[in-house]
Amino acid sequence: MGMEAKGYMDAGKLVPDSTIIGIIKDRLAESDCKEGFILDGFPRTLTQAEALENLMKGMGIALDKVISLNVPDELIVGRITGRRVCAKCGASFHVEFNPSKVADVCDYCGGELMTRKDDTAETVVSRLESYHMQTAPLLAYYKDMGVLLELDGTKDVADVTSDMFALLK
Ligand SMILES: [Zn+2]
Repeated sequence: MGMEAKGYMDAGKLVPDSTIIGIIKDRLAESDCKEGFILDGFPRTLTQAEALENLMKGMGIALDKVISLNVPDELIVGRITGRRVCAKCGASFHVEFNPSKVADVCDYCGGELMTRKDDTAETVVSRLESYHMQTAPLLAYYKDMGVLLELDGTKDVADVTSDMFALLK
């Protein structure tokens, strides 16, 4: 499933929902998900949300909470274009908001920090467009289900983290 998804991504195409759902189904069946799990950046469309709902029903589990981190578009562009990711361990930094101790070097493993290929202003703007068109409708969907929590994501990392823990109790 992962290789299939990679094929689409390498070709610059969107990975079909059936492939994504297959990957998630396999992952959720692993033992470390028994106590719970967090999905980050999924679902992104109503179709995906409905597919996830069906998948989870079939597994006898329910979605407890959906967190929407609310941040204005301008701030998102600044945050994403300043993001640096460790090539070795995947740790995430930001040139302004969460800098590494030594420029371009990972604090945790000494690996080299890189800008992800899709973290340019152009791609961010187009991702924001698809967010507003395809993903924003999920807010109403999950609000109706009574699981939506909205969080002010404009604060700094530590405050957003503690607000999130407080919401999740
Ligand atoms: Zn690292």
